[in-house]
Amino acid sequence: MTFLNSNFVGEVQALRRSIFDKRRIPLIAGFLCIAAVISLVPGSAWLKSNSRRVRVVLPDRVMDVTTAKETVGQLLTELGIIVGTADAVNFPMDERLKDGMTVSVSRGRPVFVRADGRTRAFLSSAATVAEVLAQAGISLGPDDYSDPGPDEPVPDDRYIRVVRVTFREEVVTENIPFTTEYVKDPQLEAGLKAVRRNGQSGVANVRYMVKYEDGIEVSRKEISRATVKKPVSKLVALGTKTEVSREGTVIRFVRAIEVLATGYCPCEICCGKNADGYTYTGVPAKRGVIAVDPRVIPLGSRVYVDGYGFAVAADVGSAIKGNRIDVCFDTHQEALRWGVKKVKVYILPN
Ligand SMILES: [Zn+2]
Repeated sequence: MTFLNSNFVGEVQALRRSIFDKRRIPLIAGFLCIAAVISLVPGSAWLKSNSRRVRVVLPDRVMDVTTAKETVGQLLTELGIIVGTADAVNFPMDERLKDGMTVSVSRGRPVFVRADGRTRAFLSSAATVAEVLAQAGISLGPDDYSDPGPDEPVPDDRYIRVVRVTFREEVVTENIPFTTEYVKDPQLEAGLKAVRRNGQSGVANVRYMVKYEDGIEVSRKEISRATVKKPVSKLVALGTKTEVSREGTVIRFVRAIEVLATGYCPCEICCGKNADGYTYTGVPAKRGVIAVDPRVIPLGSRVYVDGYGFAVAADVGSAIKGNRIDVCFDTHQEALRWGVKKVKVYILPN
């Protein structure tokens, strides 16, 4: 039995070998012929679903490939192209491949987003600012803005700034400045002013809408204003009187000035060692001459000085600035007696 059996198995194996040995080549050739015929049939579903020409574009190269893969993801895997989370493909990974399709893979590049007091850096292949912000999980409030704007492309410097904009109402107590009113006063000499009433500032409560950008005030707009206390205007009298009576004489004048008047004489004590007894204008220094600041009282002006009398503005002095004059006396004694006095000077018509 054992012999018979082994002999039978050997016969079967030999039969199989002979079939394959003799028919292998014709079988394969036949199969290829059928495949070739099928491939020539227009609209062959078999061919279309198994062989597609696809262009794959990477940042550094372009590949034209023929593939039997079904989806974009499968093709990229076949080509050994790894798509990271920061990278982008122009089709979903499960998109079915079609003949003539161009699959683009863009690689993530560093992008910086400044928002809410900190700067985040990450890789992104996003094309627009809005996409980057979405990737960063940053949403813009109704008044917030980004620089560049959301619809703008990611800038060359890869830096995006988000500005938080808030508005807040503020009530501020403010001074209301007073105005000044002028009134003519015939009792006061022309050229003189007198304050009849002091001004007083008022008070207002002002409501503002204040705009903040990242917590810093950038502008404010007045919404309403309520007067708490009205201001009081300053009242100033302007003299119009052009005549005064002095020791029985009526003096007609153009304007009056209040000055600080100091007595002097031509002596060395009053005028220095080099004093020659002559004034700046060449008039001898004696009673009836005053020294002035020519910007206040022009040289050559005829004047009447209260307590001194008529005089001519003929001298100047380095210490005589503004509303100051020196009144000249013939003797040092008289000058000392005068001392320093606040007086009115009347500028007389020429
Ligand atoms: Zn003197």
